[in-house]
Amino acid sequence: MTTLYYSHPDFLLHDTGPGHPECADRLRSIAIALEAPEFLNLIRVSPPLGTEQQISLIHPLSHIETVRSAIPKQGKHNLDHDTVVSPGSEKAGFRAVGAVCDAVDKVLTGQADNAFCAIRPPGHHAEPDLAMGFCFFNNVAIAAEYARRHYHLERIAIVDFDVHHGNGTQAAFYNQPNVLYASSHQMPNYPGTGYPAETGVGNIINVPLAAGDTGVEFRQKYSAIILPALRKFKPDLVLVSAGFDAHKDDPLASIMLVEDDFQWITQELMRCADSCCGGRIVSVLEGGYNLNALASSVAVHVKTLMWV
Ligand SMILES: [Zn+2]
Repeated sequence: MTTLYYSHPDFLLHDTGPGHPECADRLRSIAIALEAPEFLNLIRVSPPLGTEQQISLIHPLSHIETVRSAIPKQGKHNLDHDTVVSPGSEKAGFRAVGAVCDAVDKVLTGQADNAFCAIRPPGHHAEPDLAMGFCFFNNVAIAAEYARRHYHLERIAIVDFDVHHGNGTQAAFYNQPNVLYASSHQMPNYPGTGYPAETGVGNIINVPLAAGDTGVEFRQKYSAIILPALRKFKPDLVLVSAGFDAHKDDPLASIMLVEDDFQWITQELMRCADSCCGGRIVSVLEGGYNLNALASSVAVHVKTLMWV
């Protein structure tokens, strides 16, 4: 497989301050893990800056302006109690959007089989007009809309295995039958949305997990609900909100996944993508806050994406 790995020093400029779990060291630990010899064939891509036009596929200009005007010349500013911006946040946010759109371009034009975007800030909590949960631009939602508009794809699936519900992605596509959004997440937990009854126009699939659930329950629920729905939907592109905070060592949640479970879900998503859309997957980093668990889980995820 030709697998692309997107990273950029600009992502480190988004400074959330001491003690914040969503920190630049997350990407540093991933970068170190991906220096191992088995990643020699990984194609490393330095993404372009994204554009206002790309961001406005999901967010109104007023939201972009709100975020921009909140960015301080120095120090930090809180958009909400846990969503912080610093002087480097605009560059990081625009670069993250540039990465996911470039990955869509490369995968949809056949220049790569799949891609992993090691970006920050994460995006899936950002609603079209609201920054929250460490997120201000919804990268994966922008990627989906970008693929729809520029490549005229009829069906795009977003699978979100981050331990938190992607309320922002759900809000962006709640009335959009051409985008399937399927999420597994711990409930109750932040942000409080993601009940199975939230079904949109039949395109939203929410699969709650309970604190203490392990890979057994995780695999059962994917096998029974999300994977069959994905195969039935027959997407032209599979996007992944790849959060690794359902790992047993993660400090922000209580699901007990291990690296092997991330390998399993990656493999299953690749199988679906193989049967529906020539294996086209763009995977986008969301959460994951234990540095060691994040690095080893991403390594397994990327290694699986690289498999022939
Ligand atoms: Zn999360």
